[in-house]
Amino acid sequence: MDNPPLTGPRPNFIRNLIDSELASGRHTTVATRFPPEPNGYLHIGHAKSICLNFGLAQDYQGTCNLRFDDTNPEKESAEYERAIAEDVSWLGFSWANRRFHASDYFEQLHDYAVCLIEADKAYVDSLSAEDTRQYRGTLTEPGQNSPYRSRTVAENLDMFRRMRAGEFADGTHVLRAKIDMASPNINMRDPVIYRIRRTAHHRTGDRWCIYPMYDYTHCLSDALEGITHSLCTLEFEDHRPLYDWVLDSLPVPCHPQQTEFARLELNYTITSKRKLHALVSEGLVDGWDDPRLPTLKGMRRRGYSPQALREFCDRVGLTKKQTVIDMGALETCIREDLDATTPRMMAVLDPLKVIIEDYPEDQIEQLEAPNHPKDPAFGHRALPFARELYIERDDYLDDPPKKFHRLGPGREVRLRYGYLLTCREAVRDENGRVIELRCTHDPLSRGGNAPDGRQVKGTIHWVAAPTAVAAEVRLYDRLFTVPDPGAREDFRALLNPDSKRLVTGAWVEPALASTNPEQTFQFERIGYFCTDRDSTSTRPVFNRTVTLRDTWAKVQSTES
Ligand code: ATP
Ligand code: MG
Repeated sequence: MDNPPLTGPRPNFIRNLIDSELASGRHTTVATRFPPEPNGYLHIGHAKSICLNFGLAQDYQGTCNLRFDDTNPEKESAEYERAIAEDVSWLGFSWANRRFHASDYFEQLHDYAVCLIEADKAYVDSLSAEDTRQYRGTLTEPGQNSPYRSRTVAENLDMFRRMRAGEFADGTHVLRAKIDMASPNINMRDPVIYRIRRTAHHRTGDRWCIYPMYDYTHCLSDALEGITHSLCTLEFEDHRPLYDWVLDSLPVPCHPQQTEFARLELNYTITSKRKLHALVSEGLVDGWDDPRLPTLKGMRRRGYSPQALREFCDRVGLTKKQTVIDMGALETCIREDLDATTPRMMAVLDPLKVIIEDYPEDQIEQLEAPNHPKDPAFGHRALPFARELYIERDDYLDDPPKKFHRLGPGREVRLRYGYLLTCREAVRDENGRVIELRCTHDPLSRGGNAPDGRQVKGTIHWVAAPTAVAAEVRLYDRLFTVPDPGAREDFRALLNPDSKRLVTGAWVEPALASTNPEQTFQFERIGYFCTDRDSTSTRPVFNRTVTLRDTWAKVQSTES
């Protein structure tokens, strides 16, 4: 699969940097990587990193590696890895044979650690966890040297060999870089680079009982892969001195350059893996692909397309300054994409029965409706019409105000692509609730135009009852009621109780009876929807992808 073109790359500080380096000859090629840890599912923030790394490789005819940063066997699994790879390719990017793992380098990383020990740049420390904390110091006070820091090279080599051989219990010893316990940067106060963990690894099994730490592994993996630009999020800025120290201390093939950019943060949702894990494992959402989650699996199930997400990532751009993007900006991209790419269909979510008294019983007429109002390439479909129809309950009012261009006693409306319809009588149940409208139609208005040119302002959607298909519709909305749930530990209490509403009595036109999961549609006048994988041949299920308009912007402006 060829990587898709991004819609005209926008300039940003990383592109400017690369342009100047290519011009000066500092680099002749661009080699990036996307380095997920296989300990969870990818989310919208990862999409930004994927689009950036794969996008640069594409635009500069370079390479981008998919590298699994798998140094934490307790939390990682082959299942996560499979899901991540699937998501990256769903987003539209391919890595061909450039799929790597930090665990591919375990032997090499170990040998580098031995080099550090031989150069007296690493030592085995045997402090307890509590003492380690004491010795580390604080942001305002320097740390102190561990008494084990003065172990000889020979002793360190022996201890490290025995750590690897499994002679010690978990947590009893660690290998630390020997840098500077008084450094104002805590990351430089002799960071741990190896620890003992008797946990089977999903790729290396029981081969190792010591595992390298992230900071040590990441820079070396970059160097071993010949990465030119190691792009990461701002929280790693303080780790850059360590990144450089490790590479400067070892005979590595090259020294990649770490550059940081701001994370993508969206309001009304969370992108912390820990919190996403909590929502999923505590059953507060329906799994990792719950359509309310900002995971790629969730957004895919919701009906978001890869091209809309790529466009969004491109539009939010790349900065050094942390900002929070409005969810409305994402939804605008989704809407624009769906407007251009989806057929229009009719569905009634809250049905009210209409009987057309002057329409022949038992007759079913096949009308013809365009699948897209602006784009003839979508073609036409047969749309059955009959004496009994369903319309939306809120398209009728007993006492409609003047500007309500829908049904009321004696009022006339246009049935989309059907006939003009006049309401004659509302039939009620014993509680006075309207249960049926008795109507007549203008037989000369087939297609929706008045034969005498009279004005009919309102147009409503409808579904013919005899051929209608019963459907379940899931109305999704924002997962949280506050803009900044990610900043709060009580995020569970801030979940939007209306983020998922189930509509069980909906009717859809027969063209929607058997569609495939992830197919998207506009239900006329209602919103964009997609077929859910829970659909069966007898009962389709649809997810609301996004409303037709930004209803939240409206709520906010009337509240303020
Ligand atoms: P963890 O805390 O588990 O490391 P993570 O979100 O950083 O979580 P990784 O699997 O390490 O997860 O992320 C892979 C890559 O995606 C990293 O390069 C990371 O910087 C980037 N990334 C993660 N979250 C975002 C975000 N919100 N915006 C942009 N890039 C992100
Ligand atoms: Mg990370």
